[in-house]
Amino acid sequence: MRILITNDDGIHAAGLLGLYSSLRQLGKVTAIAPERPRSACGHAITLHKPLRLRAVQMPDGETGYASNGTPADCVALGVSDHVGGRPDLVVSGINLGPNLGVDMTYSGTVAAAMEAAICGIPSFAISVASYEKADFGPAADFARYLAKEIAEHGLRRASFLNVNVPAVSPAEIEGVSVTRQGRVRYSNRIEKRTDPRGGVYYWLTGERVDQSRQPGGDADAIASKRVSVTPVRLDVTDEALIEDLSDWGLDWPR
Ligand code: MN
Repeated sequence: MRILITNDDGIHAAGLLGLYSSLRQLGKVTAIAPERPRSACGHAITLHKPLRLRAVQMPDGETGYASNGTPADCVALGVSDHVGGRPDLVVSGINLGPNLGVDMTYSGTVAAAMEAAICGIPSFAISVASYEKADFGPAADFARYLAKEIAEHGLRRASFLNVNVPAVSPAEIEGVSVTRQGRVRYSNRIEKRTDPRGGVYYWLTGERVDQSRQPGGDADAIASKRVSVTPVRLDVTDEALIEDLSDWGLDWPR
């Protein structure tokens, strides 16, 4: 199996190296990841400057690549004929910090998996639900297990998986839940502060709030010490709203 891995925490992140070592047991793994942390860059791509790759040595002596591009750029490069060629699977992570609810929209980690889905390649994003220095071992093991499951069953086209692993020891993990994207969002998002010269500045911050703790949601699984596997599709069309809008009778105003 040929596997491409990337992340948004950077080529030197411990989560990427843990993922690399684990997936190496399944076949050829190529790491192409941002040269610096790019968390919360979403699905940004680079259009107006050159993309460069710098060879770096992976723990097993093989060659990986640091890119000046975003996680989505790394996937586009990694599935191209120019760099490595088409992989059978793309895995993005292991991210330090959960990607639950609305985080999925901001996440560079999730965007990389989405880019792979756009390219027609099975993929998943995987994150550990802790911002502290996490033990990536359990998530790395689960990534290898899930990669084998995907190789066996395949994924629907234009869909991918968003995986979050609770930051507990393997013995404490209660199991695996297939979940929906939850309604986690942030409150008090913007702090207004004053710099030493009296100028006002703002800092994006805020506390994560799970509005609903709805059963079957991604955050609910993590709170129950279960691995959350959320199926995601590229098509974000709101079917119900199509029906609502048909009642509006929208027309060009004359
Ligand atoms: Mn990150």
